[in-house]
Amino acid sequence: MLTAPKVNSFNPPRRILMGPGPSDVYPEVLAAQSRPTVGHLDPLFVGMMDELKALIQYAFQTSNPMTMAVSAPGSAGMETCFVNLVEPGEKVIVCRNGVFGERMRQNVERVGATAVVVDNEWGTPVSVSDVEAALKANPDAKFLAFVHAETSTGALSDAKALCALARQYHCLSIVDAVTSLGGVELRVDEWGIDAIYSGSQKCLSCVPGLSPVSFSPAAVEKLKGRKTPVQSWFLDQSLVMGYWSGEQGAGGKRSYHHTAPVNALYALHESLRLLAEEGLENAWARHQNMHQQLRSGLESLGLNFVVAEASRLPQLNAVYIPEGVDDAVVRKQLLENYNLEIGAGLGALAGKAWRIGLMGFGARRENVALCLKALEEVLK
Ligand SMILES: *Cc1c(COP(=O)(O)O)cnc(C)c1O
Repeated sequence: MLTAPKVNSFNPPRRILMGPGPSDVYPEVLAAQSRPTVGHLDPLFVGMMDELKALIQYAFQTSNPMTMAVSAPGSAGMETCFVNLVEPGEKVIVCRNGVFGERMRQNVERVGATAVVVDNEWGTPVSVSDVEAALKANPDAKFLAFVHAETSTGALSDAKALCALARQYHCLSIVDAVTSLGGVELRVDEWGIDAIYSGSQKCLSCVPGLSPVSFSPAAVEKLKGRKTPVQSWFLDQSLVMGYWSGEQGAGGKRSYHHTAPVNALYALHESLRLLAEEGLENAWARHQNMHQQLRSGLESLGLNFVVAEASRLPQLNAVYIPEGVDDAVVRKQLLENYNLEIGAGLGALAGKAWRIGLMGFGARRENVALCLKALEEVLK
């Protein structure tokens, strides 16, 4: 017999989360998550899922029937797109201007497909002309994959132009919208996006662990025409949709696939309900306004942005760490003295930049003011 470990209940303090995610969770979302658990096939729960699907469609601005939330974080949404759509031997143009583009490349290789990488410097957006050159040079490519909002650098790419190019060259587009959804303009149907995934814990300000995804009719057709079964059982959309829509189940009945994370889905439902109540365009404008406030304060402190103004993400502000300042010491003081978390640099920017998030519920005046005051005092 192992002796029982003596541990107390975990009672974390209330931190202010201004990093690259998770972001500050709406109090209403935390409350929603603590409501009574019901069965995942309970008619009341199924009704909530129908609402949730409509809310995800609104957030993505799509009428795609194949729209749902993967029961796992953004990385699983990424994998859902690649394992379902890309078949072994196919060619995928992958844009890499930060950490997450590289992860897309790894997904492509792992499904046994070939990645043609379009590299752009960290901190710059994906180059539309470089992508067009790659599409011209690879007429056999089947997909164009890119990250809309690169959280590792704070750069926003032109998803509308890139998806138009994909269409022009007969490719399906796969778009990472983990950090963009709810924070900047994103229009899935209007821009012709074929497969998109996001995450619950960035600009939706929900608890981490869920990934909204959506497939266009063309993507669904590609999935249905596969010659090989989807290699992942858990992420196989044709099975998952049997639960989410009942399409595949007998007589439209929902069939058991896996036990849905019931309470986490209450949380996502509430966060998307709040987004719908605010209105998408108002949410985009709020992120931009808070970014402008933060930006002027950071500049008065002498901090310089990594990304040029034209392609800066409002929700992820990457600034260079000033000469002679100890990265770890500053972040430790912010956490211990102000309960404030900001993000460290990732990959090529590790130790060189901070990433200050203004995501969802975190994109508000109090947070901007606290962050600027705390940084000013700590940097003195
Ligand atoms: C956070 C993030 C992911 C991964 O999401 P997880 O929820 O951490 O798995 C993927 N892409 C981008 C752009 C992200 O910011």
